[in-house]
Amino acid sequence: TLAPELKDTGPEKLLAPVLSAFWDEDRSWTLDVYRRHEGYEGLRKALAMSPDDVIAYVKESGLRGRGGAGFPTGMKWQFIPQGDGKPHYLVVNADESEPGTCKDIPLLFANPHSLIEGIAIACYAIRSSHAFIYLRGEVVPVLRRLHEAVREAYAAGLLGKNALGSGLDLELTVHAGAGAYICGEETALLDSLEGRRGQPRLRPPFPAVAGLYACPTVVNNVESIASVPTIMNRGKEWFRSMGSEKSPGFTLYSLSGHVARPGQYEAPMGITLRQLLDMSGGMRPGHRLKFWTPGGSSTPMFTDEHLDVPLDYEGVGAAGSMLGTKALQCFDETTCVVRAVTRWTEFYAHESCGKCTPCREGTYWLVQLMRDIEAGKGRMSDLDKLNDIADNINGKAFCALGDGAASPIFSSLKYFREEYEQHITGRGCPFDPARSTAWA
Ligand code: NAD
Repeated sequence: TLAPELKDTGPEKLLAPVLSAFWDEDRSWTLDVYRRHEGYEGLRKALAMSPDDVIAYVKESGLRGRGGAGFPTGMKWQFIPQGDGKPHYLVVNADESEPGTCKDIPLLFANPHSLIEGIAIACYAIRSSHAFIYLRGEVVPVLRRLHEAVREAYAAGLLGKNALGSGLDLELTVHAGAGAYICGEETALLDSLEGRRGQPRLRPPFPAVAGLYACPTVVNNVESIASVPTIMNRGKEWFRSMGSEKSPGFTLYSLSGHVARPGQYEAPMGITLRQLLDMSGGMRPGHRLKFWTPGGSSTPMFTDEHLDVPLDYEGVGAAGSMLGTKALQCFDETTCVVRAVTRWTEFYAHESCGKCTPCREGTYWLVQLMRDIEAGKGRMSDLDKLNDIADNINGKAFCALGDGAASPIFSSLKYFREEYEQHITGRGCPFDPARSTAWA
């Protein structure tokens, strides 16, 4: 599904800085600088259209949710019932916390007005007069910067009563969460925003029908909303000229791990990890890729056999995975797969909210088995047990956290079973024998 024009393109031509175009500029986060870079032009164009036409335009652009699942953004907006007499809400999910994912936080830090402008457009389209940004609370410098950007937008008449003279009243509230991975799950986030303990709700009803305060609510990721102003300003055809037919546009890829130049790379959807590595200087010198994740640890791990699989919902997405958050974590041959999966599994067990049994109990047992195997105390029968427990979590938990915990277990056993067996037969870690007694 890689667009033909991307196939033979040199790495430098693949970079498509849009949201990150002026991150390096002095005081990039201010309204003045944003205005010098098409700032609030998309909103002006949107306000000249009817709300329904804005929704149709975003739908036709093909923009898909950048939080991980890739749900079509315009379609989500269209789900909001009209004339129902209830308030409508827009909630921006800025609780970025998938391991390896670090795109929304730098975007908010360097270019917060792209999000605020996107919020104004989305609220106009879905006829909402109150939006919330639910931000990961630990990132205090980002919180401060966001508050400052919102204050600037109010002062400039872009938010508040009769925003931009449009007749639209728009309040924007920035809320800092308290640092729980589960609060990035959209319904747990809504519970947390309402002042309750953040735990997922059963869906359906989806938030579009009954969300914040039981009212129709759009929950969108930061990058999804921040992408809308440029689509409105430069046009849906421009957006569709990048990426693939079903996954069009530009996006932010977070590259991390054993690579020469980790960081954010903005490029079209549907490029491959090989192309990303080419443009970022490759793996660290003298080392080769062993395994990688397309979208944080919740997505299955891949190997160097998958370097040419397009990073979109039809490429990686079709290979038994979801694309996820486009957090490319790359590990070289010095990394012990069992150790990496143990760490991820410990993360999921720690972050499980405990509401449903498969996830609460299952992640606990996965950790026990993984720690034993890592320490050289495992048995061959543990490998089937791992698969069995993961199978009992996958698709049976209340929310996607359970599936995320099962995913690295399945894929590591699929591609690296031999390495698990070496830990068992050798009674320790072949990469680090000193660690073998760690749990004895
Ligand atoms: P999902 O596919 O169930 O839903 C995606 C979105 O579409 C939701 O907003 C949902 O409300 C909406 N939706 C789906 N079907 C709908 C319907 N029939 N009617 C109305 N709305 C509908 O995915 P999810 O469980 O919300 O999220 C899982 C994703 O989250 C994974 O892809 C994972 O990569 C990602 N994730 C991201 C982070 C991060 O830090 N960004 C962290 C953990 C997980």
